[in-house]
Amino acid sequence: MNEETLPCSEKLAFSTSKEAKAAATVAYYQHGTKLKVYLCKHCGLWHLSSE
Ligand SMILES: [Zn+2]
Repeated sequence: MNEETLPCSEKLAFSTSKEAKAAATVAYYQHGTKLKVYLCKHCGLWHLSSE
């Protein structure tokens, strides 16, 4: 068992880029925050990045 915590464990994760992009669009309309979508090499899911 590998109990090591992923560096992304506290991030929102999406199983598809489509879902992640939809969430990024919502965040943009709600907060004016531009988020980038990227495929995570740690968990294999999609996250949003504000950088
Ligand atoms: Zn991840």
